[in-house]
Amino acid sequence: MKCRAKVNLSIIMLLAFLLISTFGTGDFVTRVDAARANEKADIIIKNGYILTMNGSKEVFPKGTVVIKDKKIIAVGDEKLGNQYKAPKIINANGNIVMPGMINTHNHVPMVAFRSIGEEGVGNRLFDVFFPLEGKLLSRDLIYKASIHGAIEMAMGGVTTYADMYYHEDEVAKATEKIGIRGVLGETVISFPVVDAPEPYGGLKYAENFIKQYQNNELITPSVVAHAPYTVSPEMLKASKALADKYKVPFALHAAEFPDEAQRVESKFGQKYESVIKYLDSLGILDENTMLAHAIHIDDEDIAIIKERGATIAHNPIANTKGATGVAPAIKIDKAGIRMGLGTDGPMSSNTMDVFGTMGYAARIHKLVNKDQSLMPPSKVVELATIGGAKALGLDKKVGSLEVGKYADIIIVDVYAPNTFPTYDPYATLAYAAGPQNVKDVIVNGKMIVENKKLKTYDYNKNLRDMKEIYKKVAEVEKTLPYHKKP
Ligand SMILES: [Zn+2]
Repeated sequence: MKCRAKVNLSIIMLLAFLLISTFGTGDFVTRVDAARANEKADIIIKNGYILTMNGSKEVFPKGTVVIKDKKIIAVGDEKLGNQYKAPKIINANGNIVMPGMINTHNHVPMVAFRSIGEEGVGNRLFDVFFPLEGKLLSRDLIYKASIHGAIEMAMGGVTTYADMYYHEDEVAKATEKIGIRGVLGETVISFPVVDAPEPYGGLKYAENFIKQYQNNELITPSVVAHAPYTVSPEMLKASKALADKYKVPFALHAAEFPDEAQRVESKFGQKYESVIKYLDSLGILDENTMLAHAIHIDDEDIAIIKERGATIAHNPIANTKGATGVAPAIKIDKAGIRMGLGTDGPMSSNTMDVFGTMGYAARIHKLVNKDQSLMPPSKVVELATIGGAKALGLDKKVGSLEVGKYADIIIVDVYAPNTFPTYDPYATLAYAAGPQNVKDVIVNGKMIVENKKLKTYDYNKNLRDMKEIYKKVAEVEKTLPYHKKP
């Protein structure tokens, strides 16, 4: 009997050993897929300080990531690299290897107007933005400016961004050309714009755009209503209904200004305590709705947003520069609302730099809450990666380095004057690193930036195009009425 018990125990132990060695003991993402071991891969990244940004924020200080057929097929320690062969081996040499960053709010073509009207202007939106757009926007400008902006984002480690503008099909073409992902929303607004001569023409444009791009690998088409005070209640509902019809994301600016509920009342005769309560009354807040800004919201609004499952794009650089306020990001995060970081358009924040955005988020919430323990570095890196993916509904595909996800990966240099030494990679990313420290960028398994060189477009060609645009914009800018004001 004793002998049989011993044999049984040995068999159990052997089985346990086989199970553990096959599937690992930790998170499922770190295991090597046994069926694929020794299989040929496309790219192996070795010797990186790997921040997986998975559910337990697992890190591998000397780690390996293996890529095949656009996806991550293994993530783990240094031994893992020996189990795969690939034509491309990247020695990360101790640099940070992390998920590509996600910019959840942008108006990329506005980069053509960067740095205009920064001083001595009363209302930048009405005295500068709208007149410039009215006189200058064209398909050509939108495409070339989108190429320029996508280059800035790609080289700065942004592998996915959300956009809202006009002629969004041109933005999509440019985004695909540079090779990053876009959640691109055609804008619905109450006045005629460059791609829609009649008010709310964006609705029709958006439907065509969705049909054109709904099965694209890099582009997720979406519908965007500009704001509660520029879009009527009927058209807000129609915009959301269109998004629902095609099962695409919906977004709008909301609670960016303190008086939005009053604006809604005076314009559309809808009286509500808060703009969030108004939007909720229209039935347009749900898990596919993203609110950009959400600054002027109280505890009741936060409870409504949580209840409906809507998400938030937090834009601390644009909000501080525009003096619109500080969103209650700590309360939003505590409530468990999905939230990502955004730069907003490059006329509002002047760059599309997500490192800078992390830095603002990390610092400003400590300051306004007088508590230096808030918004720690690992939290802002989370918001800039998997947090943004969750907010955009893309977390099954991207946002972390996990087996089965698309290979959207960046490598950040820790040996530069502004990043060495790095004891804590999260702190370097949140407080010290910048876009210039991004060495390599992989999107959808393809290297689009290698050793700080963009591989998908000739920047000099883009610069020549942008210089032509710059000349035209500068001529028109001189004629804007704000120059005449005392
Ligand atoms: Zn915006």
